[in-house]
Amino acid sequence: MSLAFDDYGRPYIILRDQGQKKRMKGLEAYKSNILAAKAVANTLSSSLGPKGMDKMLVSPDGDVSVTNDGATIVEKMEIQHPTAKLLVELSQSQDAEIGDGTTGVVVLAGKLLEQALTLLDKGIHPLKISDGFDRACDVAIKHLETISEEIDIQANEHEALIQAACTALGSKVVSKRKRELGKIAVTAVLDVADLARRDVNLDLIKIQTKTGGSVEDTRLISGILIDKDMSHPQMPKEVKDAKICLLTCPFEPPKPKTKHNINISSADDYKKLYLQEQQYFVDMVKLVKNSGANIALCQWGFDDEANHLLLQNELPAVRWVSGTDVELIAMATGARIIPRFQEITPEKLGKAGCVKEVQFGTSNERMLVIENCQCTKAVTILIRGGSQMIVDEAKRSIHDAICVIRNLIKDNRIVYGGGSAELACAIQVLQYADEVSSVEQYAIRSFADALEGIPCCLADNCGLNPITSVAQAKALQLKENNPRIGIDCMELGTIDMKEQKIYETLSSKKQQIQLATQVVKMILKIDDVIAPDDY
Ligand code: ADP
Ligand code: MG
Repeated sequence: MSLAFDDYGRPYIILRDQGQKKRMKGLEAYKSNILAAKAVANTLSSSLGPKGMDKMLVSPDGDVSVTNDGATIVEKMEIQHPTAKLLVELSQSQDAEIGDGTTGVVVLAGKLLEQALTLLDKGIHPLKISDGFDRACDVAIKHLETISEEIDIQANEHEALIQAACTALGSKVVSKRKRELGKIAVTAVLDVADLARRDVNLDLIKIQTKTGGSVEDTRLISGILIDKDMSHPQMPKEVKDAKICLLTCPFEPPKPKTKHNINISSADDYKKLYLQEQQYFVDMVKLVKNSGANIALCQWGFDDEANHLLLQNELPAVRWVSGTDVELIAMATGARIIPRFQEITPEKLGKAGCVKEVQFGTSNERMLVIENCQCTKAVTILIRGGSQMIVDEAKRSIHDAICVIRNLIKDNRIVYGGGSAELACAIQVLQYADEVSSVEQYAIRSFADALEGIPCCLADNCGLNPITSVAQAKALQLKENNPRIGIDCMELGTIDMKEQKIYETLSSKKQQIQLATQVVKMILKIDDVIAPDDY
């Protein structure tokens, strides 16, 4: 590439290596795209299921994270290949919509791609494959709805919800504590849920991590917990009937925005300036106090001078409150976020029953809880654990569980896990293939094979022989017409997933199959890749 100038002196760029650009067309392009995407899916397949492996990912600056969450793994893999990137997006869209099932969706897409590759080798046109997959997908989705079951989310102290949360947590690092964490997640969601509207605003559940203690010490706190303490140790530790002034401006004299010079030529001048600055602080504190506020939460800091004045004026204050906390507090207490001291008015204050400092475990560190917020109920899950790595992974796992519970509140239909739902769909899709007389039937059959790939993968990951266990499950499903037969990953002695209580949401399974099919269809439509040589 070089820069040249035309007769008028305007620059233009000459691309010299046009001919050398890498270009792939037709079958070669399909195959190379499929292989790249499959490579990503293969890495994830060992992470699927309750005995799936975790991945350790080291970022360029040396941060280590250990995770089992599909979306997190592909996100941190720093994938370059454009088609492989589609799988990253696939996992992320499952994460955004549903929250759980992010590994499964990528693994399924990988299995579909594998099948597509064999079909291409047989000489079947990519569009026919696409069509066949599409039709098979519709059949599978319809079948999922017929085998789904409604659960009663209220019965037995929300036992069904807890079980579903346990299924989501069972495959994670924190699986030993899945029951306790599942209960916490269920209580948290139900606390903020609007059951009449079947809606849950997940923003009202704050997940706070704090290293120290162990995962068992994780607890649910009603109210908003912020990892800050009062700005001065002698301020009161508890403010009842709190009227909160939520500030996004710093407690400090205004700084000139453009360059100004101040000439101080005498000691008197200096004193005047000092007094003037002091006056700013006094005015600010007065503005806050006059509004009736009895506690100030400030997104910015303030210096010792201001801190001292706040103490003298008996106005407890907290500094460096994070932006997300500010928003949550505003939402829950009805406070308006105030950007200038002049704008403080009594109506803009937020109200809460109590703001107090609390201490957890044996550590000296204190945190603040805002309880009984006026507008909406908000809760905090405080996650403890031995290291940053553990609490981070616990946070991701609890997020999955919370999403599952939210989805069940929205739509209480479930299917059973352990690969049973996929297997049942595979059987149905195979039956459908026999009715199709055109070329698509090959693709439809392959779709069924790909669905079978999920139980296969689950069995493989927990050390069972994939072929025998899937064959056994399939035979039993057909014989007993029971779509709940799957893989006994935990070796509990039964392959009926209803007995094992492995609940998965219908919405998640549906979304998985739909999204995976969509992405594979998209990859199959690319027949020409033009890219710079160095990739
Ligand atoms: P994802 O990120 O896709 O949720 P997971 O690692 O959580 O991946 O694995 C989910 C899969 O594991 C689902 O197919 C689910 O049915 C299956 N599964 C979860 N728990 C069990 C269990 N106890 N026994 C058998 N299968 C299980
Ligand atoms: Mg999961």
